[in-house]
Amino acid sequence: MTLLPRHLAEAFSDQLARLVAIPSVGAEGRGQAETAEAVGEQLRGLGLDVELHPTAGAPVVFAERRVPGAPTVLFYNHYDVQPADPLELWDSDPFTLTERDGNLYGRGASDDKGQLVSRTIALRWLEERHGELPFGVVFAVEGEEEIGSPNMTAYVREQRERLAADVGFWEFGGVDAGDRPTLVCGLKGILSVDLTLRTAAHDLHSAYGPVIQNAAYRMGAAVASLRDENGRVLIDGFYDRVRPVSDAERRHIEAAPFEDDQVKAHVGVERFLGGATGSEYQRRLQLEPTLNVNGIHAGYGGPGMKTVLPASAMAKLDFRLVPDQDPHEVFTLLRAHLDRHGFGDVRAELGEEPEWPARVDPGDPFLRHAAAALEEVYGSPTVIVVSSGGSGPLHPFVETLGVPMAMLGISYPGGRVHSPNEHVRWRDVHRGTYATVRTLERWAGIGVV
Ligand SMILES: [Zn+2]
Repeated sequence: MTLLPRHLAEAFSDQLARLVAIPSVGAEGRGQAETAEAVGEQLRGLGLDVELHPTAGAPVVFAERRVPGAPTVLFYNHYDVQPADPLELWDSDPFTLTERDGNLYGRGASDDKGQLVSRTIALRWLEERHGELPFGVVFAVEGEEEIGSPNMTAYVREQRERLAADVGFWEFGGVDAGDRPTLVCGLKGILSVDLTLRTAAHDLHSAYGPVIQNAAYRMGAAVASLRDENGRVLIDGFYDRVRPVSDAERRHIEAAPFEDDQVKAHVGVERFLGGATGSEYQRRLQLEPTLNVNGIHAGYGGPGMKTVLPASAMAKLDFRLVPDQDPHEVFTLLRAHLDRHGFGDVRAELGEEPEWPARVDPGDPFLRHAAAALEEVYGSPTVIVVSSGGSGPLHPFVETLGVPMAMLGISYPGGRVHSPNEHVRWRDVHRGTYATVRTLERWAGIGVV
């Protein structure tokens, strides 16, 4: 394993400690300006020109150093973190970077302050190996990723010229449960919808049951009409725009390693939805759009008995979408479905700003460099993940800017991101940072290829 030189490992933990110490919790709107300043200072330390770009929410840290006539690499990261609660489940203070057993603990140690610092250390390392770099560098570090990046699509569109680049690195990446390096090529879109319904002016005595409609039943029926037992969405037209899977994508899905029993034991289920196993599990996870119920509420759920007939009900839904589905069109199809099935009284409202799905072709030359670099650094074949099951603001980078974004980095599935005791393992910091270095060397033709 190629280790970071000692002074760069020290710089990694110093820089990360500085960022972790500022509790930039997006959901609480805390510490954003201060963290943006600290990130800007670290990027200035790399010799980049830094600007803080205001948005309707938290500022974006923009940094660049162009090399005339040469291609440019773009880094997308975020400086906000998830809340640290529940605090009592942390073994050390979440906002003090703490080293234990070869790991670095702290909120944001992995997601995403650790990943961000890893990229800056990779650039320093490259300069130490080669002197002045033969390519330009651009960073866009936002402060609202953990609350769904509500301003990122508009920001990228407005700044499309400043952000112009040839290749890019996404904010996350790492190894899978089998310690194999992964290269993720896409993210699903997300559409959140709130359903509400009222059947009477107020909750009633349940003696009215024979004559008054119950809102809980009605919401249950409306939600049940949207999906079948195997997870297939029953909204007309929902699948019409789903892009056919290419042969290459199918091959990667089939080659993706998958330990059925291990996953079943881990999540505590005996079978997967629709009886999926092996590559069918992978195909569904990576390529299927879904409809999920986040929560459904009506009536009384407390102790004892309350003979009430609820007059209102609500359900929160999220759709995970795949290319080329359009979240606004899906919302219209949902409305039409409810009306057609006699649920005209169920109100549907858009939740958070939707995100469009996006995917980069795994055969893109930059992704091939990344896959080869990962294989070389980790000493095992790269697992190509056609799409993550999760979402993020990938679409404006891939579609508006036309930049192939590579998703690789320093995390591992046990890193407790978003949970107490979030951490990175030093071994992943070494390997993941070196993989960024080797990807750029291969792409720029400056290392031994
Ligand atoms: Zn996160």
